[in-house]
Amino acid sequence: MKRQGIRFTGIVQGVGFRPLIAVVARELGLTGFVYNDDAGVYVEVQGTEKVLAKFVDAVKERKGPIARIDSVKAYEIPLKEDSLFVIAPSPAGKQPATFIGADTAPCKACRRELHDPMNRRFHYGFINCTHCGPRYTIVETVPYDRKFTSMKEFALCPACKNEYESEDNRRYHAEPNACPVCGPQYTLY
Ligand SMILES: [Zn+2]
Ligand SMILES: [Zn+2]
Repeated sequence: MKRQGIRFTGIVQGVGFRPLIAVVARELGLTGFVYNDDAGVYVEVQGTEKVLAKFVDAVKERKGPIARIDSVKAYEIPLKEDSLFVIAPSPAGKQPATFIGADTAPCKACRRELHDPMNRRFHYGFINCTHCGPRYTIVETVPYDRKFTSMKEFALCPACKNEYESEDNRRYHAEPNACPVCGPQYTLY
């Protein structure tokens, strides 16, 4: 058994990176945790050397369309006793040094929802997810958490909150997550 601390830098916040890391780690049977901090994303994974060797490549291969990995630094650290892989809260930061992505046009999945009369976001202009939507224009500081964006004024409705909190949802921690019930509205004059 070995344990690695792995530091990812680049555009790795607000792009579905933590859930992807968790999915890959769990698929490989690794234990440990992932969190966002002011330098990017930090991961600790523990497992056999052979499996650990596959982890970073699997993450690179499956990252979302607007994620950008600039560097990956992995180093061996002492073993810890953990039995699961978890997404951990961001530690309080001091020296912000991570990148925030550009605003991005709606992804295919969001466009499909936008035009679906049965969808609760039918024709909702502020539709977004972790693969698309606003980033740079709403950010006030990092780490990229909703409370540090202009969306903090809009409390999530139960349906949006459920998406925001479900690791297997493409809106897991989509910080600008919104719908016609709880999100911003617009009027054309
Ligand atoms: Zn989307
Ligand atoms: Zn909502």
